[in-house]
Amino acid sequence: MPLLNDLTSKNAQRTWIASNAVRHLRDKGELAALAQELDHIRECIDHIEFNDGFRGYFMDIEFALHKLEHVRRSHECICSLYLTDDLFNPVEEARQGNIDILKTVLLDGKWVDHYECRCVLCGAQYSVEENEYDHRWWAWRLLRNADTNSCVHTPCLPESYGDSASLRVGIR
Ligand SMILES: [Zn+2]
Repeated sequence: MPLLNDLTSKNAQRTWIASNAVRHLRDKGELAALAQELDHIRECIDHIEFNDGFRGYFMDIEFALHKLEHVRRSHECICSLYLTDDLFNPVEEARQGNIDILKTVLLDGKWVDHYECRCVLCGAQYSVEENEYDHRWWAWRLLRNADTNSCVHTPCLPESYGDSASLRVGIR
């Protein structure tokens, strides 16, 4: 499995590229196989010495580990990971066939305020606010749970969000 080879290569660059592939990976079998190796993957990543220039990349690696942990521990659809990260562009997710965009709400008739979309796997619905400072980022919020079809109330962003956002702005 080439991704596993890269994730256990103990090489910062290869690990980072593979981590970005994991971010977009939807193949359940491949995800499950990687999740089984999670402890080994973590061990290898612990051996990498990341210099300061790699701090920004490390967040991508952390997200890949977080996703594999989710696959290993939870039966929840992987779309719930949209709530834990701010780099999922709904237009790109729709292009890849992961979600359907139900509605695009514009501000002043031209700027995107938010999207409403639905996961093609489980039917959960999300409202996604588009934001831009020095880079674009997206805040996903759960609107409707797939199973119960009832409105849910979750905080718009995880608590750690502010820290990671300012860290990222500082680095990129
Ligand atoms: Zn889903």
